[in-house]
Amino acid sequence: MKIPVVENILSANERLAEENARTLAREGVTAVNIMASPGAGKTSLIVQTIGALSERVRIGVIEGDVASRVDADTIEALGIPVVQINTGGTCHLDANMVHGALGELPLDQLDLLFIENVGNLICPTEFALGEALKVMIASVPEGDDKPYKYPGMFAAVDAIVVNKIDILPYVEFDLAGFRQLVTGLNTEVQVFEVSCKSGEGIAAWADWLMAVTADKDS
Ligand code: MG
Ligand code: ZN
Repeated sequence: MKIPVVENILSANERLAEENARTLAREGVTAVNIMASPGAGKTSLIVQTIGALSERVRIGVIEGDVASRVDADTIEALGIPVVQINTGGTCHLDANMVHGALGELPLDQLDLLFIENVGNLICPTEFALGEALKVMIASVPEGDDKPYKYPGMFAAVDAIVVNKIDILPYVEFDLAGFRQLVTGLNTEVQVFEVSCKSGEGIAAWADWLMAVTADKDS
């Protein structure tokens, strides 16, 4: 009888996620859960967004990885408060891990908090963290068939960032078909097309994030 155990874990997680959400709301911080496959560009998108927004809002980052702190070092070099979570093998972040990380961040000095989840398209959506927004990155080299394979992820997110559009001329990726598939799974979702390499599309994504953050604040 495995199912009741799983349900208990998820409901315990849900309670802690609500506590995280209350803490973040009290401190006026909008948290964004960034999910994607390994290598899709989670850290690159965070770095680009910091470049676009750091003069307008105070940003912090939680980096989730199975091991290492290379991504946290990249963020720290930008002078941004960052906490690394090493999950030690677990393939997703959970509310308890984020709860610990929140305690190490200067929340009263932040407006926007990026939570970079572990690279994985399956279980991160099952574990609420207390975030205000869920964002997924789909990168062009992964192919345009991901919505068929991971419908749960595509249905759960507020925004999808299609990254690496600079290589569109060299690969088979039907952007119009992808958009159609995605909006079939999620009628509310915002889709952004960006290149974290060239910076194309970052301004539109960053402006949307600012508008949503202002909304959540008021
Ligand atoms: Mg990363
Ligand atoms: Zn997992």
